[in-house]
Amino acid sequence: MEAKKNIVVLGAGYGGITAALRLARLFHKHPEYQIHLIDRNPYHTLKTQLHEAAVRKTEISIPIGRIIQGRNIIFHLGEVTRIDPIERIVYRENGSLPFNYLIIAIGSQVNFYNIPGLQKNSFPLQTMRDAQMICDYISQLCTSAVSEPVEERRRDMLRFVIGGGGLSGVEFAAELADHAAQCTRNSHVNPHEVEIIIVESGSHIVQRMDESFAARIHKKLLGKGVKVIPKSKIIGRTPDTATLSSGEVLKTKTLIWTGGIRISELARESGLKVGQSGRIIVDEFLRAEGYPFIYAIGDNALAINPYTKEPVPAAAQFALQQGRLVAHNIYADIFEGVGKPYHPKVLGEVVSLGRHLAVGWLALPFLKKITFVGFLGSLLKTAIQEKHIFLLRKESGKWITS
Ligand SMILES: Cc1cc2nc3c(=O)[nH]c(=O)nc-3n(C[C@H](O)[C@H](O)[C@H](O)COP(=O)(O)OP(=O)(O)OC[C@H]3O[C@@H](n4cnc5c(N)ncnc54)[C@H](O)[C@@H]3O)c2cc1C
Repeated sequence: MEAKKNIVVLGAGYGGITAALRLARLFHKHPEYQIHLIDRNPYHTLKTQLHEAAVRKTEISIPIGRIIQGRNIIFHLGEVTRIDPIERIVYRENGSLPFNYLIIAIGSQVNFYNIPGLQKNSFPLQTMRDAQMICDYISQLCTSAVSEPVEERRRDMLRFVIGGGGLSGVEFAAELADHAAQCTRNSHVNPHEVEIIIVESGSHIVQRMDESFAARIHKKLLGKGVKVIPKSKIIGRTPDTATLSSGEVLKTKTLIWTGGIRISELARESGLKVGQSGRIIVDEFLRAEGYPFIYAIGDNALAINPYTKEPVPAAAQFALQQGRLVAHNIYADIFEGVGKPYHPKVLGEVVSLGRHLAVGWLALPFLKKITFVGFLGSLLKTAIQEKHIFLLRKESGKWITS
């Protein structure tokens, strides 16, 4: 019997799980092709909700087995350590797998930029484990602060610094502000003793949104008691202090670092051509340069927007679109020979600012936009998150409960 041909997807995040499910659907009448999915975790993380899980117990993971149940997908649990693009083999810590086609979707990692003391003395917010650690730490800190009789020490315990005022930093700060308000109410600590400070290197927070939006978000954050220090970088960190580029030293026991991402060295070390931030250089069909049978998507891909000539930002909505596209392109490459070039669709941007507030815009037909601020925004954000789960259910043909 002839061996099956392998289509291997690395990473079961937004891009990878979408690609694997779409491949399973497209290839369901072609049992000669086997789809493989590899991830270091046995669950799919709803990464865009990490900031919620970092302050309160929230379920933001779905077991992969439940999503792919009944599909022509074999799941392999393990860390991918190397890709041999010449011999077409993926190496895991616990084995290897040959491939005919490969989709790289292993996302991004935190970048500490070698800032002295930062990695050792701060919390990143990139994985579910990070979120759980922050959540446990904050609730412990709030409990200890209650029994600390000296006000100055209590204030030091309740000063939280967030390095990086991008989307994740801002969303986390707002969640934390709501949580701290609740925590102080419950434990009779003076709410004015809590300080939440965002340190942002740019002139305004959420750099990728336009300035008027950023100003609205800033205003809402101020209303929640969050302070923003713009045009300032964290240049050093000890267990009790954060030193800023302005020379100011903030006393803080808690620093959450959301100031940058980088792509794993895996692609570069495997001989694939990488560009800005270590993202894999891809053509318009999202194929890695020089390797037409290897695709990169999501945060891993340095996909260029053909309209603006700018790199497509690292965001879940683009990872999802790219996951669907490359599944079709692989199918086309095998059976029809014509793939579709990638044209990113910007569906909108929503920044949640706590449980009941969000700011953003959504695209309407004829290049129109609808903007919103407030409770309606938070309903829309929830709807966007639910839509992802709904689409997973639709693609997998199963009713998943997270
Ligand atoms: C706190 C936070 C909030 C965010 N909010 C938003 C938002 O509101 N809207 C938005 O559009 N984007 C948001 N983003 C960005 C968005 O989450 C990412 O752009 C998106 O997850 C990228 O999808 P991906 O498929 O490329 O990778 P990911 O979703 O990160 O998935 C990568 C997968 O690869 C696995 N993996 C990694 N390395 C290996 C390895 N060596 N071996 C095996 N498996 C591996 C991981 O376990 C993971 O399952 C946010 C990000 C963060 C951190």
